[in-house]
Amino acid sequence: MSRDTRYDILFEPVRIGPVEAKNRFYQVPHCNGMGSLRPRMVAEMRGIKAEGGWGVVNTEYCSIHPSSDDLPHAYASLWDQADIKAHGLMTEKVHEHGALAGVELWVGGAGGANLLTREVPLGVTSAPNGHGHPFQTRPMDLKDIRMLRRWHRDAALRAREAGFDIVYIYATHMYLLSQFLSPETNQRSDEYGGSMENRTRLVRELIEETKDAIGDTCAIAVRMSADDGTGTPEQPVSEDRREMFELLAELPDLWDVNIHNYEHEMGVSRFVQEASLESTMSYVKSITSKPVVSVGRFTSPDTMVSQVRRGIVDFIGAARPSIADPFIPLKIAEGRQDDIRECIGCNICYTGDSLSVPIRCTQNPTMGEEWRRGWHPERIERKSTDATILVVGSGPAGLEATRALGQRGYDVMLAEASTELGGRVTRESRLPGLAEWARVRNYRVHQIQTMPNVDIFLDNHLDADDALSIGADHIVIATGAKWRADGFGLYHSKPCPDLGPAEQVFTPDDILAGRLPQGRALVFDDDHYYMGSVIAEALVAQGVEVCFVTPENMVSAWGKMTDEHYQTQQRLIQLGVQIITAHGLDEFNGSSASLSCVYTQQARQVETDAVVLVTSRTPNDGLYHEIAEKIVAATAEDAPVPTLNKIGDCDAPAIIAAAVYAGHRYARELKADGVHHDVGRQDKVFVPD
Ligand code: ADP
Ligand code: SF4
Repeated sequence: MSRDTRYDILFEPVRIGPVEAKNRFYQVPHCNGMGSLRPRMVAEMRGIKAEGGWGVVNTEYCSIHPSSDDLPHAYASLWDQADIKAHGLMTEKVHEHGALAGVELWVGGAGGANLLTREVPLGVTSAPNGHGHPFQTRPMDLKDIRMLRRWHRDAALRAREAGFDIVYIYATHMYLLSQFLSPETNQRSDEYGGSMENRTRLVRELIEETKDAIGDTCAIAVRMSADDGTGTPEQPVSEDRREMFELLAELPDLWDVNIHNYEHEMGVSRFVQEASLESTMSYVKSITSKPVVSVGRFTSPDTMVSQVRRGIVDFIGAARPSIADPFIPLKIAEGRQDDIRECIGCNICYTGDSLSVPIRCTQNPTMGEEWRRGWHPERIERKSTDATILVVGSGPAGLEATRALGQRGYDVMLAEASTELGGRVTRESRLPGLAEWARVRNYRVHQIQTMPNVDIFLDNHLDADDALSIGADHIVIATGAKWRADGFGLYHSKPCPDLGPAEQVFTPDDILAGRLPQGRALVFDDDHYYMGSVIAEALVAQGVEVCFVTPENMVSAWGKMTDEHYQTQQRLIQLGVQIITAHGLDEFNGSSASLSCVYTQQARQVETDAVVLVTSRTPNDGLYHEIAEKIVAATAEDAPVPTLNKIGDCDAPAIIAAAVYAGHRYARELKADGVHHDVGRQDKVFVPD
């Protein structure tokens, strides 16, 4: 297929100072939980983005010196020769595909506590640590500032040696340089504080000195926020910030523009839609002649074209869309935009940074596994036999197994009990704010529908005899899990007998199936991720008066990992939900629930007509065990038997990303005689040779 000419503009080359990007697709810096700890994994991952057609591929935040250390969050570093060598792995792979490699030089300030290096963090003033660690910064004196400028220049020289084409001055996200810029955080009285000229002095010096050091060969980018957080919804950009852009407008070779509110900038789709930075950042292009890049979870080529044509940006910046589908540019170039695996805005990718573990993605199971397992997002080994495979269940696990097995060329039969595909993603995407999650199903169904070797059987509830009578060589069970109605979970380590009467006890499955409580309902959230709060929101929408109870100290505590906890709690407060934290649900008698404080065990009563238990799930593995028994019996009689596996929630209930991963892994590891589990290579320590 050839490219739709409407999208030609996205493939125009764009000059950035001394270098040229081959197109407008720009992977902005994004963290990945690998950084300098796992350089081979990160290099392979970035290389695949370049292969997928991104014109520019950047690193994550990259420390210039041991005085900026963000562990336990994994960052990149350019401290010494070993780092140059490690980054060389990435730049080489990026250049192989004709893309530019960029590095985001980072100075932590009050954002990092230096827990690894134990250097005293340097700050614009003596300020508390941004993550709440009990370490304040030392206010930088003029000598510190001179030192910092030298470190930055040296790091820029190392960046050039490592092969980077674009080098960043990183002046946003509350790190040191943004704190110098802000009239709120910069309370200095010397030549680096006070007036606009003084507050911008350090950034200006760094731009000029970096240009002086490497500007003949490398482009100098500045990442800065379009607003400073002091504006109003009607007028988000303060005069001060606008003037600041005007003052610095022509100094860098490229502007990478974001917004002050990080939770909005990388907000989950439950709260933030595509292209939502535009209203705040769109003025920047009218101020500068230099190319501008910004993000907005862009997955639609039409939105991308509109952004460029209307003069909002020159480059389409992307972190998450490039994670969910590293091949977006190539797919658009080849007229295959319907094959784009669109990001669903769940922020599971961000948990890699939060937890300092390699990045994973709900939509793209190969993300983070490019080097460790050698997985490619678009290519997969051809089938090795003419075996047939029966997949039972079409949730994310079953759908991805079917898609990837189909891609391998196997003959696949997919049986689904209900009349629609998608399992939990189909059901959950009907909950408030989760509509984009249906993309997990949509992408896979679209792919499967083009495969003549895949047959789908809807409305087919299989029992063990049905499954075996089909005569497939391999059976994989992906029958999901159901929410428990007995309270078992973290708070109750065994089923709780005091939660009755049954007709007034509900689970998320009931709500999803349309069985709703009337009057007042108490949602007991012992799951701590999104489900409890989304169910509360769904009930409020149905006119139910909701009390939300959690043993944690906040609503949806695990939402911290995806950076949605703040908006989640805000949403429930705005909806008028009564929130009771640090309490467990002990008893419910049909009209009153008994709670106790997790610290003091002091009891309290809440009048309610129903309880909704969001505690834990039971795997639907009955079918698997029935088939397994029959296989054992048949084996004893020397009858031919299929291989049997279970994947996804019916194996171990978890997040959707885990189900997709399990389906993908099954398909990758299926050999003639069954599944060969492989734990993959480990990139634990980088030893330069
Ligand atoms: P996962 O997240 O592991 O993919 P889901 O719960 O999303 O699991 O999906 C499981 C799917 O399996 C559901 O759509 C359900 O209707 C289907 N299913 C469950 N039992 C059977 C069965 N015996 N035969 C066919 N389909 C089944
Ligand atoms: Fe998008 Fe979710 Fe993948 Fe992140 S994990 S890239 S938010 S689909």
